[in-house]
Amino acid sequence: MTSDLPVVVIGAGPVGLAAAAHLAERGLPFLVLESGDHPATAVRAWGHVRLFSPWRFTIDPAAARLLEHAGWVRPDDDILPTGAQLAADYLQPLADLPELKPHVRYRARVAAVTRLGLDRVRSLGRDNTPYLIRLTDGDDILAQAVIDASGTWGTPNVLGASGIPAHGETAAAGFIESALPDVLGRDRERFAGKHTLVVGAGHSAATTLLALAELAGQHPGTTVSWAIRPTSPARTYGGAAADALPARGALGSRLREHVDNGTITLLTGFSIDRLTTDANTVTLADGDRSITVDRIVSATGFRPDHTITGELRLDLDPILGSTRALAPLIDPNEHSCGTVPPHGVDELTHPEPGYYAIGVKSYGRAPTFLLATGYEQARSVAAALAGDWDAARDVQLDLPETGVCNSNPVEGDDIIAAEGGCCGSAPAAPVQLIALGDRPADGQAGPCC
Ligand SMILES: Cc1cc2nc3c(=O)[nH]c(=O)nc-3n(C[C@H](O)[C@H](O)[C@H](O)COP(=O)(O)OP(=O)(O)OC[C@H]3O[C@@H](n4cnc5c(N)ncnc54)[C@H](O)[C@@H]3O)c2cc1C
Repeated sequence: MTSDLPVVVIGAGPVGLAAAAHLAERGLPFLVLESGDHPATAVRAWGHVRLFSPWRFTIDPAAARLLEHAGWVRPDDDILPTGAQLAADYLQPLADLPELKPHVRYRARVAAVTRLGLDRVRSLGRDNTPYLIRLTDGDDILAQAVIDASGTWGTPNVLGASGIPAHGETAAAGFIESALPDVLGRDRERFAGKHTLVVGAGHSAATTLLALAELAGQHPGTTVSWAIRPTSPARTYGGAAADALPARGALGSRLREHVDNGTITLLTGFSIDRLTTDANTVTLADGDRSITVDRIVSATGFRPDHTITGELRLDLDPILGSTRALAPLIDPNEHSCGTVPPHGVDELTHPEPGYYAIGVKSYGRAPTFLLATGYEQARSVAAALAGDWDAARDVQLDLPETGVCNSNPVEGDDIIAAEGGCCGSAPAAPVQLIALGDRPADGQAGPCC
């Protein structure tokens, strides 16, 4: 009986742990497999970044019920946590609850998911055949269903403008940082006194650029450049004072000031096609244009890794890599995070029954993901796995209507969101900056995740 087997949850990030909480409440056996040695490995990697969402939108309701039952004191709903606070004050206590802890396995990286004894082509008996989850250490685990909440943090987009690595990009890897290094903290030494190029037009890029500009003021010889593919930085600058979320508007305004006063040198319309290195520097070229720097921060967004599910029957949207049913609901050309409609198990279903990708991975390359959306996915999928289809289909989502990403293209901004998504932070943004219920006017930027 496959129903005696656990539901395997891949990833102990916020959404994987939320799924675990819902499965625990439903009394379903489950096992969380996490590649890191603690929960929230990805969130901790950007722990120095402050979220745009206050605590009220970053705590899953089932997780809160379990935590509060154990005496946990809920953080102030209106405060904006950092990634580190999200991990320390919510996700670590959640993973340590007696209902979860025995069922979370760390240092367990999933290498592949398939059906026991069946490759993708074989149909006979497929739906009643257990899932086989192979770990990188060679362990095999059987499961009745798989909830894949492995995120996208481990698979950043490349610098190459065509979606494949630029010529020389792989060889230049030693010069390239992934998004959101802790420029003013633990990673300071790598940037102080150096010339850094930040690539990308999203909020991750903006956050890093502001930190580098601050470092330049503190450490002589620190030089900052910024390359974007669009011909205008208008989207990154956002709505400034008119932004529905002042914290986000302030982020863009400060960035614009640094560009205007020359602290940051901006290259627009820059499509990287080649990287060359010498002993200490790296040169990036777009045709005849080029720039030589000491370090590169690649803030070009993330993509889902579907290789681990290559033997499953997945029906992926050809553009975003989400399910086909979800794609039109999250399309960054049409939607901001705040305008994504509620969705659940029906939109997340693949031809392979019992496999669901949830969390930020479920959105594929769309940068419109919010935790609140992921928590509702987790609730709906857990209800479906428990056979409670009424609850599974009763999807609800109460998001601030202040969308996180602007759905209205800005003139000159031909690449929507693909350059780094919408997530990022305005450091130490005051609590009252979250104006719930405010809807950005057409053409204005909304707040980011
Ligand atoms: C800088 C930043 C700021 C953000 N701010 C906000 C915000 O303010 N509000 C908001 O709602 N959202 C925000 N987001 C978006 C989103 O909420 C986060 O990306 C969130 O971490 C997604 O949660 P997740 O559980 O889906 O994935 P993750 O947090 O990425 O968790 C995935 C987990 O799976 C593990 N894993 C990966 N591969 C494997 C494998 N093969 N085997 C086993 N384990 C694996 C990872 O180690 C990780 O622990 C932000 C994102 C970023 C990057």
